[in-house]
Amino acid sequence: MPKIVVVGSSNTDMVVKTTRFPEPGETIIGEDFFMFPGGKGANQAVAAARAGGSVIFICAVGDDVFGQNALEGYREEGINVDAAKIIKDAASGVALITVNEKGENEIVVASGTNADLSATYVSGIVEEMEDDGIFLTQLETPIETIEYLARYSKLTDQPLIINPAPAQKLSNTILDGLFLITPNETEAKILTGISVEDEVSMQYAAQALLQKGVQNVIITLGDRGAYFMNHEMRFLVPSYPVKAIDTTAAGDVFNGVLTVCLAQNMNWKESIEYANRAAALSVMKMGAQGSAPYKEEIKKFN
Ligand code: ADP
Repeated sequence: MPKIVVVGSSNTDMVVKTTRFPEPGETIIGEDFFMFPGGKGANQAVAAARAGGSVIFICAVGDDVFGQNALEGYREEGINVDAAKIIKDAASGVALITVNEKGENEIVVASGTNADLSATYVSGIVEEMEDDGIFLTQLETPIETIEYLARYSKLTDQPLIINPAPAQKLSNTILDGLFLITPNETEAKILTGISVEDEVSMQYAAQALLQKGVQNVIITLGDRGAYFMNHEMRFLVPSYPVKAIDTTAAGDVFNGVLTVCLAQNMNWKESIEYANRAAALSVMKMGAQGSAPYKEEIKKFN
């Protein structure tokens, strides 16, 4: 099976529960404190590894306790992080999250070293790789690095998947020739200007991306499933009806697992069906990275 090369963010999420949010200038005493590994790149790398992929994760962390713990955690998941960039005297990415008693949250992200995952660094790694791989990236990484990956993928004929999250418009040079893009409904609207509501508007939005030169488009639709379109076919794969407890990182699980399926040469329909199944399992559990299911659980679930 080809290697899955995830290029993306690594964060540590720090969560404090409170009864209410503080007012500006106010200090309040919170309740429980939790620390979780996060970052879209890391979440997708972990989902892919748990689903049975052979994963190389290229990320940038500081040499602080957060970066060291994060790398240790990825190794325990069986992810190869030998190519991680470790930056001396720099702060790793963190997300400071406050959750009030209504379950609402306020989040501040300090990207830290994620902003240092430069095209120069990534090119030095990927151009030295012996075997071809399938690349997966998101938009928590500098855009020049995404542009580089798009160019390199076309030049070497190695597929690149872009999960365009957090939502951002992408240049035609990135989109033209891209193997696969996987926006959710909000991201599809930002990329195309078309609101994705019913099957007709899904088709228009996907069509707009194909017209920009993308080869394959998957729009994920939350509890409605996922819509696929390329120049030969289009279809909707419904989601698994489950009781959702926490949908954080559903898209990350979907993307990580889908990439493993594509690396195993499964066809589009089977791959999306399997990724929907994994994402449905993840929404039945609290948490982001930790809720990614293992291969055996995905296989057993129906
Ligand atoms: P994101 O998390 O990026 O916003 P979506 O909300 O579209 O992405 O979810 C990604 C995938 O997760 C969906 O295509 C679907 O397979 C699965 N999913 C999300 N929410 C649910 C849900 N409530 N029930 C079942 N599956 C879900």
